[in-house]
Amino acid sequence: MEFGTNLNNSANRSISGTPGRAGKKGFSLRERQGVTRRREEEVGVEYPSALQLYGTPPVMDISLEQFEEWAVERLRLLRTIEKHNMGGRQKFSKEWVDCIWEDLGKQGLDHYVKLGDRQHLREEKVPREVFMAHRKVDHVSHFILRLAYCRTEELRRWFVTHETDLFRLRWSLLKKDKEYTAGEDHITQFMESNFDTLEDKARTVVPLAQKYKPISAELKDSLREDLTACSSGSMEVLFYQVPWVEAADLVKARRVLVRAGLAYIPESDLLSLVVGLFRSRTSRDLTQAAKALPVLEEDGRLVGMIQSLDKRYTGEDYGTTKQGDRVMPAQIPELAKLNFPLCMKSMQETINTVHHIKYKSRLQYGLFLKGIGLTLEDALKFFRGEFTKRQDVDLDKFDKEYAYGIRYNYGKEGKKKNWQPYDCMKIIMESVGPGETHGCPFRHQETRTLRQRVESYGLKKEEVDRIVAKVEEGHYQVACGLHYSLVHLKELSTGDAVTHPNQWYLESRGLVAAGKEGGARANKHIKATHASLYSSQATQDSQAPQEASLADMDDSDLLEVMDTGTPLSTQDLLEQYRQGDKENRE
Ligand code: SF4
Repeated sequence: MEFGTNLNNSANRSISGTPGRAGKKGFSLRERQGVTRRREEEVGVEYPSALQLYGTPPVMDISLEQFEEWAVERLRLLRTIEKHNMGGRQKFSKEWVDCIWEDLGKQGLDHYVKLGDRQHLREEKVPREVFMAHRKVDHVSHFILRLAYCRTEELRRWFVTHETDLFRLRWSLLKKDKEYTAGEDHITQFMESNFDTLEDKARTVVPLAQKYKPISAELKDSLREDLTACSSGSMEVLFYQVPWVEAADLVKARRVLVRAGLAYIPESDLLSLVVGLFRSRTSRDLTQAAKALPVLEEDGRLVGMIQSLDKRYTGEDYGTTKQGDRVMPAQIPELAKLNFPLCMKSMQETINTVHHIKYKSRLQYGLFLKGIGLTLEDALKFFRGEFTKRQDVDLDKFDKEYAYGIRYNYGKEGKKKNWQPYDCMKIIMESVGPGETHGCPFRHQETRTLRQRVESYGLKKEEVDRIVAKVEEGHYQVACGLHYSLVHLKELSTGDAVTHPNQWYLESRGLVAAGKEGGARANKHIKATHASLYSSQATQDSQAPQEASLADMDDSDLLEVMDTGTPLSTQDLLEQYRQGDKENRE
């Protein structure tokens, strides 16, 4: 199908009207990767090249389930590239390529880069029907995600950037497969089976191989001196002749010879040319897709999914608390010191100091605590115990003003949804007003305050500088990942960036691998204690004078107390972190 047409079928039908597979939960790996007998026959004709300029939309039947599944897969693929771009490795370096290859393999997304007969310098040959099916999934998923990412300028820019990076990644993988393993010549196949328009009067459509033709040996000989001077490379390579505007980047960098409006490009720079074409075509097609969107919007089944796709969290599910994952209220202050990421630790420190956090903090922190295993009853005990330490909050006021929100987090009030803990992206995108303590400290706190907070983990100045440098580059999740690796002396399992505060917690406690296998084993490090009411009269009495003054403060005063009143941790705390890791490993 061409997406956007024929969309008025029932939910139980595939998008083009063929009875679909609604009701079937999930797809087998071969199905998800598009390998079926019928497709094996079709795709051989449709996909002669591993690399595509995506000139023609797919025309096919697809169920709504598969539509969504491929959309999410493509989104995860592009986000993986984005994550590695922020990781500090040089883009398109061998290290960068290897990390992405490995990461995609772990996520079960490697079929998006296994598009040829050899794969990443491996000797074994991949069956034709398998890599052909991968090409089909690549084609369809690209067009699906276009629909979600054509809506605004910002989304279009994000999509073009990461699709272009993906194209270059694949180009380098496929080129090497030919050079080192004598696989198929994917670059020639790409040039022969992808098309562009000539700038002539008739706007003739020709294969790229015809548009970008190598110059003849005679012409090369006649230009030999100038070509050598401009390209400073070997004359043994092929040179291509193109209108100079198509190689504007190379001309601007004075890397190519220009004669009579034509630029002479060495073979090694052919990629720049093709990437420029890919980028401009994708950008143009997205703008056209945006104009066609109103047709799609008549179909309610697709609208909701497409409109929310860019905001969808695609990482691990941290919302499901298993039987063995229970955390007790009394454990929280200690866990916060040792195992919470900065955003959550900050809120716990505010609670420790002023025995209160505002509405949005209660949502963010409450859901995080739910995700680490605090039950509803224990959450009520925890917040009640803390909030009623203030002189202006008694049990009655707590039940009237705060208990509803806590029950809401657990799906017992309002829409009664099982709300998930917020991921980093959502937290980072929150707006944080004066006196509010939610959000991501790496994004929302001033550098001076952030420095203090990070230093409180016992890190050296140079280490703090490295974290702050990432923050200044706008890479908040990478800064948080670096923070994690510096205090724990180990990397996160997902690479450089943190994707979810609950990931930080689980990895800090050494629970990730076990957590995936089963909750009971995941919690072997958590002491099974009996729930106790988190409120001690003695503590309340001893804090009464301080609370009396805090009760008079306005919200900005509270934030100031939070910023200055938090006792800075020492090297001991860092030692505790690392000791905790050691114990977790043992
Ligand atoms: S990056 Fe994520 S986990 Fe780290 S502080 Fe920010 S929101 Fe929290």
